[in-house]
Amino acid sequence: MADGAKGTREAVKGDLTGSCQCGAVTYRAKSAARGYACHCLDCQKQSSSAFGISIPMDATDLSVEGDIACFTKTADSGAQTDCYFCPRCGSRIYHEGKGRLGKVTIKGGTLDDTSAIELTGHVWTSRKQAWLDLDPDLPAWETQPASPEEWELLWGRKAQ
Ligand SMILES: [Zn+2]
Ligand SMILES: [Zn+2]
Repeated sequence: MADGAKGTREAVKGDLTGSCQCGAVTYRAKSAARGYACHCLDCQKQSSSAFGISIPMDATDLSVEGDIACFTKTADSGAQTDCYFCPRCGSRIYHEGKGRLGKVTIKGGTLDDTSAIELTGHVWTSRKQAWLDLDPDLPAWETQPASPEEWELLWGRKAQ
């Protein structure tokens, strides 16, 4: 989608609500607050912190209000991801991979109630900050899942 695109999706009744830092962009999502932490260098950049939190869901379960901008990131592998953010305050709101259309990941820190986040695992722990200790009971990958079964585990589907 082009820069400056209007991010308003078909309204859905949602369980989750969130916003950017300035409040110009808000969203509702019909989803559990279940997601994973990614410690890759891209997520450190996009979150401007130690790791990113991704809450995956179907795109049709997400309803965004307010003007939203898009930056398309191309990975070394050539895979492209549309990264949506508030053009006013810069908060990253959600991602949609061009290779996985119909699925989006909300950036967990934008939730109104971040205490609701249930973490399902960690990826790219090879890039993790050395001072961060992870829960040994959660699945973790040095890079990222290699099989559909591992992705299912990471996405927390088994827990539902
Ligand atoms: Zn904003
Ligand atoms: Zn990442």
